[in-house]
Amino acid sequence: MAFRATVLTLYPEMFPGHLGYSLAGKAMERGQWSLDTLQIRDFATDKHRTVDDTPAGGGAGMVLKPDVLARAIDSASENDSRPRLLMSPRGKPLTQERVRELASGDGVIIVCGRFEGVDQRVIDARELEEVSIGDYVLSGGEPAALTVLDAIVRILPGVMGNDLSGLHESFEGGLLEHPHYTRPQEWESREIPPILTSGNHGAIDKWRREQALQLTKERRPDLLQAAHPENSR
Ligand code: SAH
Repeated sequence: MAFRATVLTLYPEMFPGHLGYSLAGKAMERGQWSLDTLQIRDFATDKHRTVDDTPAGGGAGMVLKPDVLARAIDSASENDSRPRLLMSPRGKPLTQERVRELASGDGVIIVCGRFEGVDQRVIDARELEEVSIGDYVLSGGEPAALTVLDAIVRILPGVMGNDLSGLHESFEGGLLEHPHYTRPQEWESREIPPILTSGNHGAIDKWRREQALQLTKERRPDLLQAAHPENSR
């Protein structure tokens, strides 16, 4: 069964966005994954179709109403066991490991917040998994949902032209990836490292591993520590 994404949003016209292009777009055309949207506003019941209200306790901004959002979630998840994600800067930061788990399932239901966020009770009552795409604040969950789906779709079976190319990427081995080069051999007086054109595959693998390790040490020591916590003791 193909991977199925359902996105709950106040801006369905933002989808599929960039996912309609390139590898993800072609995979969608081939039916390897699908994306549908639910307009949260369609689940409002008053004549103004209100989806938000002022924060209890006061303060700036508006909060998405729990009753309206719950109806939208219930409509999307009827007889459906797909994980329900809520895009949220307070969520667990997305990792390649979680992306891989999600990609191996049937699909996802993704709720996009807006304004100040959503009423806490709907997060609790519908057991939404809060997911963050990084330590910064967006104006809405839509770009975050597109990002999560991009990361998932590119590793679905058969989506990337060359399935092997995912194997050595950043994070897959707990390291950042080694640098890449391509022709011309010399560009602006800069040479491709000779080892890469030596034809010695053993030496090339070794060089790449060393580069990856060095880069990770310099830029993301936290990744090395996560992979080998004993080194910090
Ligand atoms: N007041 C909230 C921010 C709301 S931003 C706070 O300080 O935590 C509005 C919406 O954008 C959020 O509900 C969420 O859906 C989305 N969003 C913002 N930053 C995000 C991030 N880093 N990751 C995922 N979603 C994010």
